[in-house]
Amino acid sequence: MTKVIVVGAGLAGLCAAVRLADAGCEVELLEARDEIGGRSRSRLVDGTVIELGGQFLSRPHRRMRKLVANAGLHLARTRLWSGTARLRRENAVDGRLASVGAFRDLRAFVRMTLGSNSLAAVRAAAGEDHGAGDQDARSVREWLDGIGLNGPLRPTTDTLIGEIFGGADPGEVSLLAFAELIGGEGNGFLFLLDGFGLTDFIVEGAGALCAHLADRLPPVLVDSAVVCVEHDADGVAVRTVRNEVFEGDQVVLAVPAPILDVIEFAPQLPAWIGNVNSALRFGQATKVAAVVHRRGMLRSTGFVGGSVVRWFGGSSGLVGGKRVVRIGRP
Ligand SMILES: Cc1cc2nc3c(=O)[nH]c(=O)nc-3n(C[C@H](O)[C@H](O)[C@H](O)COP(=O)(O)OP(=O)(O)OC[C@H]3O[C@@H](n4cnc5c(N)ncnc54)[C@H](O)[C@@H]3O)c2cc1C
Repeated sequence: MTKVIVVGAGLAGLCAAVRLADAGCEVELLEARDEIGGRSRSRLVDGTVIELGGQFLSRPHRRMRKLVANAGLHLARTRLWSGTARLRRENAVDGRLASVGAFRDLRAFVRMTLGSNSLAAVRAAAGEDHGAGDQDARSVREWLDGIGLNGPLRPTTDTLIGEIFGGADPGEVSLLAFAELIGGEGNGFLFLLDGFGLTDFIVEGAGALCAHLADRLPPVLVDSAVVCVEHDADGVAVRTVRNEVFEGDQVVLAVPAPILDVIEFAPQLPAWIGNVNSALRFGQATKVAAVVHRRGMLRSTGFVGGSVVRWFGGSSGLVGGKRVVRIGRP
């Protein structure tokens, strides 16, 4: 029987381990933290599920939806921006709120979805001879400047794009990659409707899905951060921070790409893989969950809404190199 060591018990590692086990492999799953789930963990606070990481499922998340259904869990629909989302002008102090978009921003959003500079036009141009290279050479920042998105919605848009692309500045993001990503969601208009409108979430929490997957496996070995992977034609030996060594035929590394940079490989991974790993970063965002009395929320200048997790692109900023999101009065 083939023995596979899976490193990382986030959703990816858990899914890989379950599929390998179902295919008849012996599986050993190692996790650095003292709990499973990775960036899809939940906490129950006073009967309310608080998501610590991944939460929203958009339409193209078909495999996630299937996983949720197979686990006997439930999806519910919510709005990412419920109530009157208010954007604060960058660096604004209490009380001075920008309306949700100036006229020039709304005009830019129309250009985003219609006409020669729309994302659909970018995708169409990429299909022409040498077109893909040309669109790849353009950055999302150039494109946003080109469509004239330079009003109050620009900081929010930049922050959202950074969220999607691992904390990157729009100037670093390929327009082609962006257009393809949005294209996968339908088109620009549907993306805006979906992204800012309705979205689904797992009622029992993303952590419940992870727990369900783990139930189908031998016990996950937690507190077992992998520090070294030795590999040759005969198999692999994986060493943890506690100096335990696990041997197997194959290893699946289901850790975030930047982490691969701190794991020692013997022999080393090919240089191109190392280069990719060091170029990829984690996104810069802080998720804030706050329970606020509804009347208080209505009076507050920061946000209004029904759910506890809220976005304020306009009021976020860089503190100590990290993007933070402020809620309520500064
Ligand atoms: C705040 C936030 C909000 C998000 N919102 C959404 C959302 O709304 N919708 C959406 O689709 N996605 C969202 N995401 C992204 C989503 O959560 C992730 O894409 C997904 O959880 C990644 O799963 P993964 O298994 O690939 O990685 P991870 O969940 O990061 O799992 C990797 C696991 O490997 C472990 N590990 C790391 N190093 C080692 C080591 N050396 N040895 C052993 N184990 C190790 C980690 O502890 C972790 O458990 C969000 C993420 C965050 C952080």
